Amino acid sequence: MKKICVIIGSGLGGLSCGYILARNGYRVTVLEQGTQTGGCLQCFSRRGVPFETGMHFIGSADRGQTLHRLLHYLEVDEHIELSRLDTDGYDVISLQNERFPFANGKEAFVEQLGARFPREKDNLVTYFDCIEQIAQASSLHSLRQAESDIAINTRYQTTSINDVLAEIIHDPLLRDVLVGNLPLYAAQKDRTPFATHAFIMDFYNQSAFRVVGGSNKIGTSLVDSIRQMGGEVLIRHKVVRMVCNETHIVGVETENGQYFPADIVISDTHPVRTLEILPDTKLIRPAFRQRINQIPNTVAGFTVYLHFKRERVPYMNSNFYAYHSDSPWNCESYTDDTWPKGYLYMHFCHQQQPQFAQSGVILSYMTMDEMKPWINTTVGHRGAEYEAFKQSKAEKLLEQVEHEFPGLRSSIAHYYTSTPLTYRDYTGTHNGSMYGVVKDITLGAACRVPHRTKIPNLLQTGQNINSHGILGVLVGTIVTCSALIGAETIYRQIVEAEQL
Ligand SMILES: Cc1cc2nc3c(=O)[nH]c(=O)nc-3n(C[C@H](O)[C@H](O)[C@H](O)COP(=O)(O)OP(=O)(O)OC[C@H]3O[C@@H](n4cnc5c(N)ncnc54)[C@H](O)[C@@H]3O)c2cc1C
Repeated sequence: MKKICVIIGSGLGGLSCGYILARNGYRVTVLEQGTQTGGCLQCFSRRGVPFETGMHFIGSADRGQTLHRLLHYLEVDEHIELSRLDTDGYDVISLQNERFPFANGKEAFVEQLGARFPREKDNLVTYFDCIEQIAQASSLHSLRQAESDIAINTRYQTTSINDVLAEIIHDPLLRDVLVGNLPLYAAQKDRTPFATHAFIMDFYNQSAFRVVGGSNKIGTSLVDSIRQMGGEVLIRHKVVRMVCNETHIVGVETENGQYFPADIVISDTHPVRTLEILPDTKLIRPAFRQRINQIPNTVAGFTVYLHFKRERVPYMNSNFYAYHSDSPWNCESYTDDTWPKGYLYMHFCHQQQPQFAQSGVILSYMTMDEMKPWINTTVGHRGAEYEAFKQSKAEKLLEQVEHEFPGLRSSIAHYYTSTPLTYRDYTGTHNGSMYGVVKDITLGAACRVPHRTKIPNLLQTGQNINSHGILGVLVGTIVTCSALIGAETIYRQIVEAEQL
């Protein structure tokens, strides 16, 4: 008889685990609290115009590259169309009144920045060699079933981004340029390990794309595949309790009173949420609960979703990061007067290489502290003051973007906003955090979330296990599923899929 695997949450982590386990003989049921599947992969539409909420671009998706291999294994590649970002500047950093594009490929990247910083050319080569070495040293990120290089991993997991950059790069402006896309991983000075920076730089530098029509297509593809393999994916099924006996979990209960028996339970929710729905049981030690509840989370965000007037805004085939302070660091520490210290501005890709953009987003950091007056409210019932707060923040942000893109303001037909509360209430992330628990060299192992728990049939997956982002989450999925079907099986299947 097939083993029953119940997965709590239909984010990328939950769905990709569901796919792999359904393919390997499990009877999978994914329970999603929301009205849409996908978690951060979700898109929404207003006045017929779509917007992405938490997955705007992906990397390493050319044939043979790591994400391509994974998407092919998950049969997602055949259901999505990718639109390549500008290879001469997939990311553009605007800092101290200059613009610095990041080009794809090591040579072009070094050439382009080296032309502006000629004395740093050799150092840029050293920097890039280091990035590549770190990405290759991780067997998971490079998808090689070999031992990871522990020495390299340990060194760069325990040294901060700024410390490593200070060793390699002499020009302080170039050091800041190189961390110009740090909103992608919410890096903190002296805290975030250099390895986190290296994985992201390597991932997008290999190749960078948007998903034509929206990243929800990744989620939809996984849902369809799970269903085709006989699994279930149920929306409006919030899990409110796991039911345990003396030794393990026997099932889960949903808010609407249904009970789902389970041989295995995988939680794709934030680990704090997982503990909330786990009853007091001697199987989980209070010290473990305390540690998980104390792990800090990455900063939350405020987003303005822009609906442009028809054929007014040329499609921007790059991601644009701007700072009005001198450096990309410390944008998470702000006052009312200094917010926003920086932002990320991107366009939605509604068709292959469109001439004009229909919609876009501006994303800036925002802490949960700002949400205090509305902390106990729910979606759609937060009141007029909340709406006024959001509008004033949006106007501030738009004013800054207008400096960089004169005329943008008058090209906007409508805009909408989201706050840390939106993410808290739609995806269950703790305090609306963008990328889940922090990676912090000063905390070391204390901020790690294990995929296995003391309950033998309860596993965790999603962005808090390994790392956030499409690759970070899929690597976490391999780790989680390996506990059930073995890493060798998964690697073999990835290789077999490539040969078909
Ligand atoms: C603003 C923003 C922009 C981003 N941009 C990018 C990008 O461009 N590229 C990239 O690679 N990554 C990006 N990311 C990161 C990426 O989206 C996430 O790391 C990833 O999607 C997280 O997947 P997950 O499965 O861990 O969790 P989530 O996507 O958070 O999914 C968790 C799911 O669990 C459900 N759930 C929670 N509690 C329960 C319960 N009790 N019962 C049932 N269901 C429950 C939630 O509703 C949700 O659907 C971005 C993230 C954010 C926030």
